[in-house]
Amino acid sequence: MVNYNKQFINGEWVNSTSSETIDVINPTTEEVFATVADGNAEDVDKAVKAAHNVYLDFRRTPVKERKEMLERIADEYEKRKDDLIDTITNELGSPLSVSENAHYTAGLNHFRTAAETLDSFEFEEQRDDALIVKESIGVAGLITPWNFPTNQTALKISAAFAAGSPVVLKPSEETPVTACILAEIFEAAGVPKGYFNLVNGDGENVGVPLSEHPDVRMMSFTGSGRAGQSIMEKSAADFKKVALELGGKSPFIVLDDADLDEAAASAVNRVVRNTGQVCTAGTRTLIPAELKDEFIQKLKEAISKVKVGNPREDGIEVGPLISKTQFDRVQSYIEQGQAEGATLYHGGTGKPDGLDTGYFVKPTIFTDVDNSMTIAREEIFGPVMSVITYEDLEDAIRIANDTVYGLAGYVVGKDKEKLQHVARSIEAGTIIINDCGGPNTLPFGGYKQSGIGREWGDYGLEEFLEVKSIKGYFA
Ligand code: NAD
Repeated sequence: MVNYNKQFINGEWVNSTSSETIDVINPTTEEVFATVADGNAEDVDKAVKAAHNVYLDFRRTPVKERKEMLERIADEYEKRKDDLIDTITNELGSPLSVSENAHYTAGLNHFRTAAETLDSFEFEEQRDDALIVKESIGVAGLITPWNFPTNQTALKISAAFAAGSPVVLKPSEETPVTACILAEIFEAAGVPKGYFNLVNGDGENVGVPLSEHPDVRMMSFTGSGRAGQSIMEKSAADFKKVALELGGKSPFIVLDDADLDEAAASAVNRVVRNTGQVCTAGTRTLIPAELKDEFIQKLKEAISKVKVGNPREDGIEVGPLISKTQFDRVQSYIEQGQAEGATLYHGGTGKPDGLDTGYFVKPTIFTDVDNSMTIAREEIFGPVMSVITYEDLEDAIRIANDTVYGLAGYVVGKDKEKLQHVARSIEAGTIIINDCGGPNTLPFGGYKQSGIGREWGDYGLEEFLEVKSIKGYFA
């Protein structure tokens, strides 16, 4: 059993004011594998004070110093590779290869990329006799979800540190252990006292007081719309800046000239990755009506090959969902899809054969989905695909944009002009053409109800900065 029953405040592990602890459950075994402190408003206040005490010093640090600190963090992070991978698999249930290649690597990339971003980022600019200075915003409150435990924490912390902003992190209570390892990494990297503070606990007792605290200058949040709304409301009391990364219901558009085998494999991957617990999942698969029969057959072949099982076994691609709550939620969406008249084409409710323990679900495909059905409108956060047919390109674009979300969009096909037209027409923050990758510095964030602000690279750094104009500076 792993115990992290203290909070990390002002460079030290200190007792929480609360004597309560939170049990952290391994979703594969359904057993408690760790406990962490279940903090409260007093812990938050101590952590914010520690950060507030150093924010002016941190702001004044030379860029070179911040870059070196980020590099030391990345070096220490690499030393904890095995622990991080093992812990992510314990708390999230992701297969070991996914914990390494997606989760561990994402965290490392964020620290390295933030250090590199500082090489070229312009913090000052002269305009006539005036100087424009970009300086750190001050104490940042960071609240993260469970689906990418090292990615979201490292992303926010690295951008704040690059800017020179101290932070108070409240990670998800479902995956708090990787955040405790991060605290140890920062200690080992010699991050000065007060720059990083960790308060474990739930949304109500830690997340709310953090959002309300008058010495917090900005809240950076990733998670559900419901919690994002609460954070925005609390932040409104003293006009804190908010950056929100919320949910999605992203379209995956297959053009009529696409290679259907590749398109089917890619569409399935976009839905089952991380057991479907991905905010950018391409869960609405849009296909030309005339290709429906041929394409859904290929989808079935592709999804049948996906290996679901114990994340510690070789060759497993998909582990359990994070919790019993998420399991029940996904089951009820599958039931609702059937009740509203969609055709259950593959998968369905219940656990896959032989996987009775653990929150495992069956990768599922619905066909004959109308975009007005609940399964096409709400974020399911499980491996459930809705196949929707379209008549022509403009119909596809209309359906793609008929959602309250706007986080991502995918388009596959051959005709470059059509691909580019669709990419420009989808209202979303990230569009991926033919599964292409891109640099780690591309801005990431949402249109509409998918969020406010951007993360990653120079755009992410900007979020943690205030802008000052000094007239007469060079006069
Ligand atoms: P959640 O909103 O329930 O929890 C996220 C975090 O917010 C947790 O740390 C939780 O304790 C905290 N929280 C809950 N209520 C709060 C409140 N009232 N005030 C302050 N903090 C509060 O989300 P989740 O279930 O952990 O994560 C899943 C959701 O996150 C999905 O909707 C998914 O789309 C979204 N998500 C978005 C992105 C993105 O970048 N856009 C990335 C990952 C996940």
